[in-house]
Amino acid sequence: MMKARGIALNLILMGLPGAGKGTQAEKINEIYNIPHISTGDMFRLAIKEGTELGKKAKEYMDQGALVPDEVTIGIVKERLSKDDCKEGFMLDGFPRTIAQAEALQDILRDLNEDIDYVINVEVPEEKLVERLTGRRVCPTCGTTYHLVYNPPKEAGICDKDGSELIQRDDDKPETVKKRLSVNIEQAQPLLDFYKEKGYLVTVNGDQDINDVFHDIQSKIEK
Ligand code: ADP
Ligand code: ADP
Repeated sequence: MMKARGIALNLILMGLPGAGKGTQAEKINEIYNIPHISTGDMFRLAIKEGTELGKKAKEYMDQGALVPDEVTIGIVKERLSKDDCKEGFMLDGFPRTIAQAEALQDILRDLNEDIDYVINVEVPEEKLVERLTGRRVCPTCGTTYHLVYNPPKEAGICDKDGSELIQRDDDKPETVKKRLSVNIEQAQPLLDFYKEKGYLVTVNGDQDINDVFHDIQSKIEK
């Protein structure tokens, strides 16, 4: 399924919140150097900057609900149209609905692009609450840590730029449960959608971070 023109790698990362999509995206980026497009990160940035988009997104995100499709599809379309996506991209957190998946097919067709792989990172549900509540992120560079599984060298401080790590508002236990149930409900139809199109590859996300990455690499370099 690799494209004739070779090097470009168009990926979608799928998996429930906490499965390790962002963590794996960092590793993929180190090797393949393709932009990591996370709709969650884009919304969080918009909130931080206080833009119109941020105001709209915040209402939904604070409740662990999905931001409406038309808003989300619009920002992805704009982002994928930028030049740096010509050599490939990783979508993370998008699509989350069938309407988004169908819109993405249209967007890519218009750009004369296609998806290479949809990588489904599978982790048993019961492990996800612990991963999410223990997650800490760098507000400056976005690097993700875990209090237990992937701690920074110095507690509470980003290895890369020394910023003080924070916990995302929606990683508090109350919101985590809501997010998981919303996502579990919506994930299956999307997996079916991509399976039917022949894009889907599944990796076991319930292993060491480097082993997950190794599995991803072996699937996309086949
Ligand atoms: P997602 O982007 O899918 O929501 P993240 O990459 O942010 O997930 O990971 C969620 C949390 O779990 C983070 O704290 C991260 O450090 C940790 N984590 C990621 N992958 C693993 C893994 N394979 N084993 C243990 N913890 C992990
Ligand atoms: P996680 O790291 O847990 O997978 P994200 O960072 O991807 O979570 O998303 C955080 C929040 O941003 C979601 O709960 C939702 O409110 C909003 N969001 C992100 N991506 C989408 C999307 N594709 N459609 C609708 N809402 C989204």
